[in-house]
This record gives sequence, structure tokens and C-alpha cells, in this order.
Amino acid sequence: MTQEFSYFAPGPAKIPEEVLRGLQEEILQYKDTHVSVLEVSHRSKDFGNIIESTEQLTRELLHVPANYRILFMQGGGTGQFAAVPLNLMPRTGKADYLVTGSWSAKAAKEAAKYGQVSEVVPRAGRYVGVPPPATWTLDPQASYVYYCANETVEGVELQSVPEVPAGVPLVCDMSSNFFTRPFDVSKFGVIYGGAQKNIGCAGVTMVIIREDLLGNPLPVCPSVLDYTVTAKNKSLYNTPPTFAIHVMGEVLAWVRQEGGVEEMERRCLEKSNMIYSIIDKSGGFYSAVVEPGSRSRVNVVFRVGGVAGDKQKEAAFLEEATKKGLLSLKGHRSVGGVRASLYNALTIKDTRRLADFMVSYQREHR
Ligand code: PMP
Repeated sequence: MTQEFSYFAPGPAKIPEEVLRGLQEEILQYKDTHVSVLEVSHRSKDFGNIIESTEQLTRELLHVPANYRILFMQGGGTGQFAAVPLNLMPRTGKADYLVTGSWSAKAAKEAAKYGQVSEVVPRAGRYVGVPPPATWTLDPQASYVYYCANETVEGVELQSVPEVPAGVPLVCDMSSNFFTRPFDVSKFGVIYGGAQKNIGCAGVTMVIIREDLLGNPLPVCPSVLDYTVTAKNKSLYNTPPTFAIHVMGEVLAWVRQEGGVEEMERRCLEKSNMIYSIIDKSGGFYSAVVEPGSRSRVNVVFRVGGVAGDKQKEAAFLEEATKKGLLSLKGHRSVGGVRASLYNALTIKDTRRLADFMVSYQREHR
């Protein structure tokens, strides 16, 4: 019997097998073009159709209102840590950051190069939850309020969209939970996400921006990070990551075929509940680190051998999991432990294999 493998990587992450099979053919020849999809010109009609249909799928799946532009950019989430202040800071020269984990902390640090940044959420020790909104100190004069919807490293997810002072644009990093649940786009000024977790491969970052926020970048803003330049040129100011955009379009078509973001949400809940319930019923053999109300539906972070984790026990668990074909479960190097990333392409069956393994591993190592 051939061994089965399930891939729990935090990103780059699993891409649906059906999509990979289609790409395999298109790498040899794209439609009737006689060239590979990797070779198609970004100025060609074929690529025009690819980028157009990827945008249309996004509009349809997320119900994006007409006054929002969709941009395809490079530089990853990290590029956006700079792009956001470079494009939005000139409003008032200051911005509020909800720092709830490593990625929003990095974003705040980058933004401080371009304006006055306030960290508005009280921090007590490690990132294990989101302090209640009543404790936040939001400035009605901020250029924008920034947050990360899902902290991939710590597994901390905001379960609702934060309320912000009237007129202050809300900016959200959705890199790790983009297209995993429906949300109201009209509550946001800017939403962005790298593709390599839920919607494709590394190389392209999608930005959704409300039109009235265009047109006021800092003068030093590089053209490739400039939302206004990118929007004016329909994401073709320079050569875009053509293949990564195509992969995104194919993955979004798969999301639609599977039932849209509503179905992705249902599956994310089923998958994450399956793992959290085993952790919670393990009598301390496994420990979830994050407070119940902030537990991520897509990055389940847990320890083995106590709440602080036991390095040797965790290494043994990971080694055994790998032998069973459960790959890339190691926690981020900055926090250790175990992290199961359960993005859209990770199936219920994959998750059940992990769940069964966790139960039998505990039985054997009690
Ligand atoms: N934000 C979040 C939530 C992330 O998970 C990551 C990467 N894992 C980033 C930003 C940075 O993205 P990139 O590596 O594409 O720059």
C-alpha cells in the first residue's frame, strides 16, 4: 500500500490537487497558444483574460462593492507593511496599530519609518489573545487603524471586524485567513493578503482598496508599492507575477466550485474544532496556547507535555507524525511547539488523519 501524505505547512501551503493537475498541462501549453502559461506575455489578450477573470472571481466571492479596486502586487505581506503607510500615512501623519502577534508587530515597526505609530492594544506577555475593545485607545485623528485578522505564528484570530472611529479607514492583513469566511468589504479601507496560504502560490499579493484612498501617497513611495500607480495601470505598471496570478485565478475558481467562502468557513470550523476538541479532551497531554475566544480556525497552535511544552516530547511527536505522512507540523521557530495549518486546500480527510494520529499517539505515550 502506498503511504498517504497530508501537508500542514503554514505557507507556502497545499494547493488543491485538481488545480495542480490543470497547471501541469498548462505549463506545457496554455489553451491553444502553443506556448506555456509561464511564457504568456503580460500584455497579451490571454493574460488580460487571466487577470480579468481573477478579479471578477474575487468580486463575486467576496461581494466587493464597485467603489473598491483590486490590485495584484509584489513584495509579499512584508511589502505591504511598507506600502500601507507609504500610501495612507499622509492623511494625518499618524496611525494606530492593533498589535496582537508577530506579524502586526513587524508591520508596526515598518510603519514607524514613515510616521507616528501608536500601539493601541495593551500587551501582557506573550500573544495569546486579543484584549477586549474597551481597553484599546483609538485616535479619531489617526490616518488609519491597522490590524492582522489572523496571526499565523501564534494562532491568534480576531473573530469579528473591529469597530473604529468614524471616518478612520480600517486596514487589514488577511494573509492567512483570506477567503476562509465571508466578511463585509465595505467596513474596510484596505485589505491585503499574500496568496501562498489560501489562494495560490507565493509571488502575488492581493490588495483591495476603497477608491477614495487613492491619490495621496508619500512622495518617496516607490512606484511598485504605489497603490495609485498600480490602480491606474491595472496592475500592469511593470511585469506582474503572471504565473502566480494565474494560479490564484485557478484556486479561486476551485473555491467557487466547492461552494464559495461560506463553504470554506464551514470546513475551517469543522477542521479546527476537530483538533481543538482533541486537545481539550486530552487531560493536559496536549495544550492549546491561545485563549478560546481568539483561537485561530486556520493555524491551530498547541504544545505537547504541558502548557509551556516539553521540547523532547514535542520533537518525538513531530518525528512520529512525519513518519505517518503528516508533514510540516512544526511550530514557528520563534514560539516552538506544534502548529497545524488548516487552510482551504487542506481537506477534512487530512484533518481526520491528524486527529486520529493525535488520539493514538496519546494512547501510546501516556
Ligand atoms: N502577514 C501574515 C499574517 C503572514 O502570515 C505573513 C507570512 N507568513 C506575512 C504577513 C508576511 O508575508 P510575506 O512572507 O509574503 O512577506
